[in-house]
Amino acid sequence: MKRPLASFLTLSLLLLSCNFLQPTPSPPPSAPGPDPMQTPWDDRTHFKSGLVASAQSVLNGLAGASVYRIEFTIADNLYQVAGTEEVRYTNTEDVALNEIHFRLFPNILGGGMTVSNLSVNGQSAAPRFGLENSLMIVPLPAPLEANQSVVLKMDYAVTVPQAVELNYGVLAYYDDVLALAHAYPMIAVYDDEGWNAEIPPQDGDVTYADAAFHLVRVRAPKELTLVASGREISRGEEGQAQVLIVANGPARDFYLAASPKYEKISQTFGEITVNSYAPRELRDGAQFALEVAVRAIDAFSERYAPYPYTEFDIVSTPTLALGIEYPGMTAIASRLYDGNRDSRMYLESTVAHEVGHQWFYNLVGGDQLDDPWLDESLTQFVTLQYFADEYGKVGEDEFRASLEGRWARVNNEKIPIGLPVSAYRGAEYSAIVYGRGALFFLALREEMGTDAFDAFLKEYTASLSWGIAAPEYLQSLAEQKCACELDALFEEWVYP
Ligand SMILES: [Zn+2]
Repeated sequence: MKRPLASFLTLSLLLLSCNFLQPTPSPPPSAPGPDPMQTPWDDRTHFKSGLVASAQSVLNGLAGASVYRIEFTIADNLYQVAGTEEVRYTNTEDVALNEIHFRLFPNILGGGMTVSNLSVNGQSAAPRFGLENSLMIVPLPAPLEANQSVVLKMDYAVTVPQAVELNYGVLAYYDDVLALAHAYPMIAVYDDEGWNAEIPPQDGDVTYADAAFHLVRVRAPKELTLVASGREISRGEEGQAQVLIVANGPARDFYLAASPKYEKISQTFGEITVNSYAPRELRDGAQFALEVAVRAIDAFSERYAPYPYTEFDIVSTPTLALGIEYPGMTAIASRLYDGNRDSRMYLESTVAHEVGHQWFYNLVGGDQLDDPWLDESLTQFVTLQYFADEYGKVGEDEFRASLEGRWARVNNEKIPIGLPVSAYRGAEYSAIVYGRGALFFLALREEMGTDAFDAFLKEYTASLSWGIAAPEYLQSLAEQKCACELDALFEEWVYP
């Protein structure tokens, strides 16, 4: 749907919204019956309600995806978390593996994570650590052959920093909001580099992960409103704690935000419910974010692939980024909710951008550290398509001007968009990956023709759903769709 465009500075504009305030339902009593956490590894029944009908066929696939059973307790002080994790890992490579690598990200996000009582198929194991303790290497008692599985179990504890200065405050307890990002031992990706792990530069995203399934039981003080990736499958109480079980997957991460101040507003369209959580005084912003998310999910579902989940959550947090993407969720900086004109503009473009990551980060994965253009540049282009779909040519032109403005911050230097995050200096990362990178996709569309380009992005999304993208594949698929040669264009924009 196109709407008339009000004048605006660089990014976006105000919109009317229509939604309703939904009171938080009182928790239903826990259903008696088998403990969902003990569901057999291959039983994906609990994940069905979290997926729209057209996405449920994935439950019969992804046989080798890791399955996590995570239980954790948030302490009364709200900055300590203690848990257990049991995970079944399947070797989907064509070589035998002698070890499995886990990331313990809190150790490089200003907090701390320790692991104890580690076992492999019930046998105690002694891990090694690296990358400033953000990497835990678990030796296997015997090589794990292709298609074989192993079950690892461990206890873990997390201390959450009470500050937001490091990595944008993705992991923080600050201003009455607990943001638990990457706060469980996560299996790294094994790819053509072997086990692929590095310390993420401060500028960029932290993770590189395969799609997995997570069953998560959270115990937390009752006064918190908990917002998590995935779909709630049970809720109850144990003494002074609330107990929530969620099923999340397929997904590349599990995220949870919690606050005693959150209030929820919701809108349901088709099979999808979008929830927006913020303190009462930020309700207008929360409402606007909700409206933008609904429209963006609708537009991108049409353009790329159906949004896979039955739920999408937006949480306001004190993050120093504008917004951060997680599977089925986004954290948006609460400072954008203040209702002033500039904040509104950034709120719309940020929510549209973070919603876009549901396709290009979560559904189609990538190495966010080595190939940030595959998620960030493409998602900036997707944001431009949102403005074009909503406001027509004038919306597209205004957003393109903001991309050109970003690139101009490095004097339009032709720095390749296809470098790892660590190769960019100072302002270059934002200017090139978020500015020039999106302009590349406009140049690609120009070269291919709009019809071929649209068909290419649709097929790119479908063929890589729940997989991992690679630059060479993107180019070869584009060339196939336009029946043209794109080496020169990619040389000019992408490759060093
Ligand atoms: Zn992004």
